[in-house]
Amino acid sequence: GPKIIGLTGGIGSGKTTVAKCIENCGFPVYYSDERAKTIVNDDEALKSRIKDLLGSDSYDENELYNRKYVGQKVFNDEELLLQLNSIIHPAVRVDFEKWVSQQTKYLIFKETALLFELKLHKECYKSLLVTAEDNIRIKRVMDRDAKTYREVQSVIEKQMPEKDKIKLADYIIYNNTNIDDLREQTERIIFEIE
Ligand code: ATP
Repeated sequence: GPKIIGLTGGIGSGKTTVAKCIENCGFPVYYSDERAKTIVNDDEALKSRIKDLLGSDSYDENELYNRKYVGQKVFNDEELLLQLNSIIHPAVRVDFEKWVSQQTKYLIFKETALLFELKLHKECYKSLLVTAEDNIRIKRVMDRDAKTYREVQSVIEKQMPEKDKIKLADYIIYNNTNIDDLREQTERIIFEIE
């Protein structure tokens, strides 16, 4: 099968920007979070399990996943979040494996925010971490979304510390400057892995 590179990074690190760059270089990327968003709307068995866990308000009047409601429910409830993830993650895994089986390139990438947290790096050939200083990440997310400094900071505090991710990563991109530098680092690493 193809070599799978796990691509990860915390909120606002720039992993999606790196993923787009990888695609521009001709390598396919599986976007785990994006796929999960689709799966929670498409998989009927999954839908009813989520409603059983979090209530019928987990889906709106159009039967679409209510991300905001679910987010609020699990944000300060670790146990509920674990239960939700134990429902969603296996479905994403199945979807990913199907995607992998359809790929023809020898090098493919899996973008996921929780690569190390879920120990998914152990199922990858190599891991690639995108990181940047907290202040820079917070500012970028504030510019992108309508979020306050404190809101972004509280998300960062809930994620695995950067120093732990850095220890686990095979390749690291430091995204503290500009997009051109980010692209250059990405291309260099692809070239190194190939
Ligand atoms: P999240 O997990 O929050 O979705 P992410 O890791 O996917 O974040 P991106 O969406 O790629 O991060 O980047 C966050 C924001 O910062 C985006 O608006 C992106 O355009 C911008 N950005 C990323 N890298 C740089 C950079 N080097 N210079 C300026 N802006 C950047």
